[in-house]
Order: sequence, then C-alpha cells, then structure tokens
Amino acid sequence: MKLAILSRNSSLYSTRRLVEAAREAGHVVRVLDPLRCYMRIASEGFAMHYKGKPLTGFDAVLPRIGASVTRYGSAVLRQFELMGTYTPNPSDAILRARDKLRAHQLMAAEGIRMPVTVFGDNPDDTSDLLKLLGPSPHVIKLTESSQGAGVILAEKLSASRGITEALRGLYANFLVQEFIAEAKGADLRCFVVGDKVIAAMRRQAPAGEFRSNLHRGGSAVGVKASKAEVEVAVRATQVLGLGVAGVDLIRSDRGPLVLEVNASPGLEGIESASKKDVAGEIVRFVAQACPPKKPSRTVRKK
Ligand code: ADP
Ligand code: MG
Repeated sequence: MKLAILSRNSSLYSTRRLVEAAREAGHVVRVLDPLRCYMRIASEGFAMHYKGKPLTGFDAVLPRIGASVTRYGSAVLRQFELMGTYTPNPSDAILRARDKLRAHQLMAAEGIRMPVTVFGDNPDDTSDLLKLLGPSPHVIKLTESSQGAGVILAEKLSASRGITEALRGLYANFLVQEFIAEAKGADLRCFVVGDKVIAAMRRQAPAGEFRSNLHRGGSAVGVKASKAEVEVAVRATQVLGLGVAGVDLIRSDRGPLVLEVNASPGLEGIESASKKDVAGEIVRFVAQACPPKKPSRTVRKK
C-alpha cells in the first residue's frame, strides 16, 4: 500500500518507528506535515496539495495529530477521507476522543465504567455541582488535557471551589471527577489495535505525585491486561470509532474505569515497556483493513 503518515515531525520516535515498520513490510510510506497540506474544496471535486505538488494515490493515512493541531489536522484528515483514503482513526473519532467531556458522555451512555464526572458553567451552581459529585478529594481536568499537564488534585472541598472559580475566570473548559485513591498513583495503558489489546503497561507515578503519565516522571512496566480490562479498553475504542488507541484505565475497587482514550498514543513508552513491535502491529492492521485500490471519483484533475 501507499501510506501517508500525518505528523508534524518525522524525527519523533513514534513517526520513525511507523515509517520503519511500513518500509520493512514493503509498503511505500511518506510523512506529511499536516500543516503543509492545503486543500481546494469545490463541488466538482477535491484537491489537496503539499509544498506545491498534488497529493494523490494514497491508500491509507495514519494520523499522528498532536493536541496543538487538532483543528487543522482533523480538517486535513477529513479531506483525505472524503477523497477516498482509508484511515483507522477517522477525523470525527479523533475529535470525539480528544474532548474528554464528549468522550465521557458517549462512553457512559454505552455503559462503560469511568470515574463519576460533573460539568457545569455557572458559579451559582458550583456548590450543588460538587455535591452531585460527592465528597473530596476531587480531580479537576481540562477537557483537552494531555500528558497529565491539565490534571489537578483538589484534596479539600475549598480547593475544588477555588480551582473551579480560577479556571472559569480563565474561560477554561474543565470537568471535575471523583478521585480514585485506591489506585495509588498507578494506571494501566492498554494499546488497542482493531479489536485487540496488543500491548499493555502499568504506569506508576513518582513519590508525591498522583499522575502516572511518563511525561510527569512516571515509570512503566509491561503487564498483561486482565479479561475485564481488555474488554473495556476495546469497547471504549470502538464506541468512539477508533481503530488504534491508547486507553488509560484506572484500577478501582469496583473494577477497571476508563480515564481517557488517546487517539495518537505514543509508541516509545509502550514499545520499551512491553518489548512488543507495536508499530508493526499498527501497519499490519492498516494494510489489512485498507480496501483494495480503486480510482477515486471525487478527485478530478483540473
Ligand atoms: P491526560 O490526558 O492529561 O493524560 P488523564 O485523564 O489520563 O489526563 O489523567 C492523567 C493521570 O492522572 C492518569 O494517568 C492517572 O494517573 C491520574 N488520574 C486521572 N484521573 C484520575 C482520577 N479520577 N483518580 C485518580 N487518578 C487520576
Ligand atoms: Mg492520560
């Protein structure tokens, strides 16, 4: 297949590994910076150009769209989709996953377990909103947080109130969640490809920290996810409409709870912890799922 990888930087570990895996399997692969893809949108046909030349003939596109380019990157990906290119992670699915509030609503509606979450706007409602949630400690999260950078622990009710007021003053979008204390700073990253968890790692926060993200100094070991964990990770991925995802689960007294579904999960931590060829699995899945080549009717040469 001819594969495009949408990534801002071809020297990133994840991008390099995907290129390597695709070449090893005999595919043609090209890394495209999504911000350099530009498009013509017209009823008689679409066109997409890159650094002055048309982009055509791609069978599949693998998006690696970071949080900072969600909007533009998903528009580029949507254009690829409309031009008939296969992607395991469609633009709408990425947008569903990236907004934690939207993802939580959709997953809860399908019965997927997660920490109880509240969301509100008016300061007059804060007391009742926090009452709906239950006693502190609470976890406050920016809805577009990633790498743990927008996740705060409020140990006391007064802290929850204060942080809520401060974030509203900054016009930030955030949700408030029950704190799962029994997890003791650990979570489980399940790497889902298709309907399988192909690798999993347990991440542990450093002393004095509750966020287990590797970017926050967490450490990781490869583990085997339990049957219940595999089931919830795969369902969460499917409910959001993704083919490749990193699902963060927290182990609670009432079983595994979903924290988030990451649509562009990093490969470095999971490959080194699990010793698995995650990039190879992704490429194999895309090659298999990618429909056989047929001339696209939506693209017409000008
Ligand atoms: P991000 O997208 O920024 O990684 P997450 O929702 O995954 O945000 O939270 C980051 C980390 O914080 C998690 O990996 C977990 O270790 C911790 N955490 C998040 N929510 C909770 C919670 N409700 N209770 C306990 N720990 C949590
Ligand atoms: Mg996370």
